[in-house]
Amino acid sequence: MQESSAEVVVIGGGVVGASIAFHLAEASVDVALIEKSELGAGSTSKAAGGLRTIFSDDLNIEIALRSIEAYRNFSARPGHEVDFKVHGYLILISREDDLENFRRIVERQNAFGIPSRIISPEEAGEINPMISTEGLIAALHSPADAQCSPEGAVMGYAQGARKLGAKILQGEGVMGIDQEANSITAVHTASRKISTSTVVIAAGVWSPEIGEMIGLDIPVKPYKREIVITDSLGSHWSGMPDSLPMTIDFSSTLSWRPEGGALLIGFSDERVPAGFDTTRDPRYIEKLAELALHRIPITNQLGIGKGWAGLYDTSPDNNALLGEANSPNRVLYATGFSGHGVMQAPAVGEIIRDLYLGQEPFVDISPLSVDRFKEARARRESAVF
Ligand SMILES: Cc1cc2nc3c(=O)[nH]c(=O)nc-3n(C[C@H](O)[C@H](O)[C@H](O)COP(=O)(O)OP(=O)(O)OC[C@H]3O[C@@H](n4cnc5c(N)ncnc54)[C@H](O)[C@@H]3O)c2cc1C
Repeated sequence: MQESSAEVVVIGGGVVGASIAFHLAEASVDVALIEKSELGAGSTSKAAGGLRTIFSDDLNIEIALRSIEAYRNFSARPGHEVDFKVHGYLILISREDDLENFRRIVERQNAFGIPSRIISPEEAGEINPMISTEGLIAALHSPADAQCSPEGAVMGYAQGARKLGAKILQGEGVMGIDQEANSITAVHTASRKISTSTVVIAAGVWSPEIGEMIGLDIPVKPYKREIVITDSLGSHWSGMPDSLPMTIDFSSTLSWRPEGGALLIGFSDERVPAGFDTTRDPRYIEKLAELALHRIPITNQLGIGKGWAGLYDTSPDNNALLGEANSPNRVLYATGFSGHGVMQAPAVGEIIRDLYLGQEPFVDISPLSVDRFKEARARRESAVF
């Protein structure tokens, strides 16, 4: 058994854990990051990399704005390429009650200075000439929204943290956490004991297992989501703008964006129950084709290349769980991002650093405490796709 120590142990090496380790190391905190598999191997490497400010909850808008700014400057801090592009988001709307909701969201975005607008179906068709506008009543265009490479983000934060002195351990999961008199004393893997007084739970959909080790209930469930990449668009690209936005057909959940001359495309199959299974549904492409044929007719002429399935890290109200546990002492958690963890990771790194150091974070995150479910303070985020 190897023995070592760290001021803080971050559990989980996805984009969130890596960002937290970076921000702590930058503040001269002695931090160890433990990843049971490889960095980014969880949900992070399966994500589409969309960075949006389209949220019904002001807190999410503030967190997204802060994060997009951090991704814009990522090549300087932590110093890594993340393929950051500002191509915007386009949400296609075909139901009156969705339009009402998105009108409210645009109002909130505009209150934060975000230049989003409700536009006509015709204008949506000019912004993304790939769409069929049939059945649409409006669209939300948020041109300042962006995208990045999730792998670039996790690697950038991890390398940045390592340069600043963080220890990064891969290939060994946390199997136990010791406590004495309500305080954390050590974290165990199969071959190591790391003495510490503080743990940060950033284990994505596996966070409930870590919570159980210390009696903390973390209500996060895994939901399978698939994505495929089409064959190259070739001559179908002619007449398309260089900067096609991430486009979401809200009523069907179909979403797509360009990816290296092809399309990265997926939809949320709400019929799939919660679970850790990530085998690809043999009927997924057939179901996708049915939806896409109607909204993106071009896909009729394209083959499908590779695809994959990953897990959405879903909380009961589709909002993140962020904060410090009441008990035991010095247990912080950052999980349950409900499909928007890549876009929130930079700001979350800052927030957890500040909670650890006893500083005020840039936003009040007390409404995101895990206790909200026990205290009937759930706050449902409606812009989930
Ligand atoms: C198909 C798909 C598309 C998505 N698209 C987007 C998008 O466009 N934009 C966006 O913002 N988000 C998107 N998401 C969501 C996003 O991927 C997640 O919210 C985000 O990756 C969560 O990051 P994380 O670091 O919390 O979790 P993860 O990346 O899952 O990392 C948790 C890590 O903890 C490790 N771990 C687990 N147990 C232990 C243990 N006992 N000890 C040590 N380590 C452990 C795991 O191996 C894993 O690497 C998408 C997700 C999917 C599946």
